[in-house]
This record gives sequence, structure tokens and C-alpha cells, in this order.
Amino acid sequence: MIQNDLNITIPNRKQKKVSFVSLGCAKNTVITEKIAALFSQNGFQIVPESTQTDYFVINTCGFLATAREEGISVIQDILSTYSISPSQIIVLGCFAYRFPEILRSYFPSITLLQNQDPLVAVEDYFSMQSHSHHRILSTPSYAYIRIAQGCNRHCSYCLIPSIKGSYRSFSTSSILEECLFIADHYNVQELVLIAQDTSLYGHDLKEDINLYTIVRSIANLQRFSWIRILYMYPHQIAFSKLRDILSIPSVVPYIDMPFQHYHPDILARMNRPTNALSYLEEIYPLKDIFPFMTFRSTFIVGYPGETDSHFSFLIQKLKEYPLDRVGFFPYSQEKETPSYSQTGPVSEDIKQERMQKAYECQTHISWQLDSSHLSQIIPILLERFDAPSRCAIGRSIREAPDVDPTLHVYGNPFRLQHNVGSIVNCKLTKVTNDEIKAEIL
Ligand code: SF4
Repeated sequence: MIQNDLNITIPNRKQKKVSFVSLGCAKNTVITEKIAALFSQNGFQIVPESTQTDYFVINTCGFLATAREEGISVIQDILSTYSISPSQIIVLGCFAYRFPEILRSYFPSITLLQNQDPLVAVEDYFSMQSHSHHRILSTPSYAYIRIAQGCNRHCSYCLIPSIKGSYRSFSTSSILEECLFIADHYNVQELVLIAQDTSLYGHDLKEDINLYTIVRSIANLQRFSWIRILYMYPHQIAFSKLRDILSIPSVVPYIDMPFQHYHPDILARMNRPTNALSYLEEIYPLKDIFPFMTFRSTFIVGYPGETDSHFSFLIQKLKEYPLDRVGFFPYSQEKETPSYSQTGPVSEDIKQERMQKAYECQTHISWQLDSSHLSQIIPILLERFDAPSRCAIGRSIREAPDVDPTLHVYGNPFRLQHNVGSIVNCKLTKVTNDEIKAEIL
């Protein structure tokens, strides 16, 4: 839930209240935080979901059918839970922009803002001005920073290019302004750089700007302990450049790079580089350079045309090149994507069967890799104190927010509570399939 702590008040709109629901990805979280700041700058009071609110603003996701279904059920819930007229429900974001007709068919009287840029949509609708880098953070002790928008890759299964448009890097100055705003207003230890594809940053900007230069500039601010980069695209950055980026002070030794599959046949059908493995072989030695080096990736299971042998190949390579953190997604058939008409559909049962096998395989691999760090000293960001279990919950440099496991840190409860929001050195004491324990030093 978004809380207003910007202490910005403007007369005559103070009594208006607004609540937010942010659906979808971390990029949407950033957009929602900016919209909340916009309302706050214009005198609205940000309140948790309640009957008291004058407006509900719902930032939707339109990427997958399941995400759209979630959006519809959230709106239905709000309509059935709160005595609020549909017109006071403001729906914006990817679903509203890409499939307004679907939302209209369900909810003819909601306020639907269809602009591709939700922030501009709200500015226009409410005639409000915004300081685009202001945000009301909804995340404890870390913040996402969007460095670009859109994508030029056109993977066969993906709607994002048709929702977010072609790739546009944000200017270095606007990104740094946003980082400074966050540093000045929040106790944020970690910045998480995001985009549909962070590795392509700067290619569309005139000067010699790229991912290395923007990370370097953010690190030079010396206002954040950790800088983490997510959503890199395979093959875009050479081993030596990746090593240089990870060598920048405060950059955590963590690479998130969705490979989606390893078999060249399936990668070709996905319209993705078919030699993913040779690139992985090229960058894997980063593990020998950086202590606690962590690889994260995601894979689609059950893509049209995926045979048992394609899937076995994927599993075999996951074992040959162990990755620390992995997410698997069952293929989702999306109209208006090239994969929609591709032959060789995989049944839902087989998809679920392969999902289970993939997770069983990966759970063991992650356990092995986590166990290799037992008794080692590692910095952990304590994010909250859990009174019932008298431990702090946090993440080390090896875990990204929202997608990776959290750690349970034990020790003197007063010290733990006192250090919530800080990075402390801890010793890893226990690793099981579903829990990682540590002791504060
Ligand atoms: S790179 Fe990512 S966002 Fe871009 S088309 Fe492929 S899956 Fe979609």
C-alpha cells in the first residue's frame, strides 16, 4: 500500500482521497508510485483501500490472459466491496491501453484512461502537473529504477512491443534526478535497475551512453549501498563489459538474464538467439571472479513444438550450467502474437508435468549452490522483523526483491529490530529446499 510521506499539501483539494492498486511487473510499480506522487503534489490524500476514498486508481497489466483476468477480478472486487460509483474507479496501464474494448465490455461505466503513458493519462484527465521524478515509494529499503521503456526484440510469444512500443532509453540526467530524489526522501539501501531490456540501454541516445555508463553515474552518487541490474538480454553485452559493470563499486554480483529456453529449435521458434548456451558458457566464468556471483534466469515450458527431447535437453543443460535462481512459466497462448498460430501445441497436462519436473530439478540445484556458501559471511539487507519467529526477514546480495527467496536472520531481537532497513554482516547457518537461515554477527 502506498503511504503519503512527501508532506506536500495544496489547499482546496486536500479533502479528496485516492487509493491505488498496482498490478503486474516492477515497471508498473514505478509508474504507480509516480502517479501517487502526482496526486499528492496536487493536494490529494493517499489512503489505503477503504470506503472513504474518492477514487481508486488501478494500474493494470495486459501482458498475459491471466494478468488481464486478475485485473477484471480486482475491479469486480472493488465494485462489490466498496460503495463507490464505477466512474470513480480509474483504470489505466497496459490492459487499458491495449485491450480497452475488453474492459469496456465488462465495465461500461468505469473511467478508462487509454493513454500508453499512464502518468500522462492522469495529468490530462485531472489537468495536473507533475515532477516526473517524484515518487511515493511502496517498497521497503529498496527502489526500482526504470532506465528505459519498450522493446525492439519481438519474441514470438510476447505482446510487450505492441503495448509499450519500441525501445526508448531515459536520459541519464532524468534517471540521476530520480535516484537523488529517492536518496533525499527515503532510507533506500538498494536500487534495482529495470527495463524490458536493460542491456540495450543507451543505444538510441546520441552520446556514448550505455549500461556501463549509467551504472557508473549512479554509483558515483555514492548514495546507495547496492545497485542490482535485472532483465538483461542474452548476447547483448560481452563478458569483458559485464565484468567491468559488476566491478563498479556497490554493484552486486548478480545477473538476471531470461534465456527462455536452451534448445536451438525452440529458440528459433521464439525468434530469440539460438546459441544461448554458447553465450552462457562465455559469461559463466564470472563465477570465478566475483564471490557470491549469482545467475538468475527464466524459462518458458511447453512452448508450441516443444517435444520431450527438447525439454530433456533443457533439464540436462540446467544441470550442466547450474543457475542460482530460476523461474519457470507455462507457455501462454496470446492472440496477436506470432506464436499463436505456431504448430505443435503442448497440452496443459504436459505443460504442468514439465513445470513440476523443472522446479524439482532446479530446487535441488539452488539448494546445492546455496549450501556451498554455508558458514560464509555475507551482507544481508534486513527488510522487516517477524515478531512471532523472533527473526528478521531479509535478502542478501544473492536475492532480488519479489522474485527470489528471502532469508531468516536470527540473533539478538533488539539488534535485529534496530537494524531493520540496514545491511548487516551475517553468517549463513542453514539451507533447506525452502528456507535459508543466517545469524547476525
Ligand atoms: S525481450 Fe522481453 S519484452 Fe522484449 S519481446 Fe522479448 S520477451 Fe517481450
